[in-house]
Amino acid sequence: MSTKQYDPYLGEEIIVLEWRDIAACAGQDPSMFFPAGETGPAAEQIKMAKKICGTCEVTEECLTYAIETNQVSGIWGGLTEDERRPVRRRWLADRRRRTG
Ligand code: SF4
Repeated sequence: MSTKQYDPYLGEEIIVLEWRDIAACAGQDPSMFFPAGETGPAAEQIKMAKKICGTCEVTEECLTYAIETNQVSGIWGGLTEDERRPVRRRWLADRRRRTG
């Protein structure tokens, strides 16, 4: 969702876009990104969703959001839930290392 913020340099309100505002999947059927399983018809859904993710300008932001908020289902950042699991494990291990 975009928000309005006062920009002291410009001296006026500006519209600040969030990554979701420019997502390639905006306006697409959300069910495409939440297939039931990974085989059969779902495999085709995943293929189509990943194709859209492949054109997206905010893949990194999307994946980071999914990892940090532990989105367990759906396709985020071009990765399925199975593909995200090791990414999240590495992220958690890294966070533990950083925070001690
Ligand atoms: S990476 Fe894919 S799921 Fe994420 S915002 Fe872009 S199109 Fe949507």
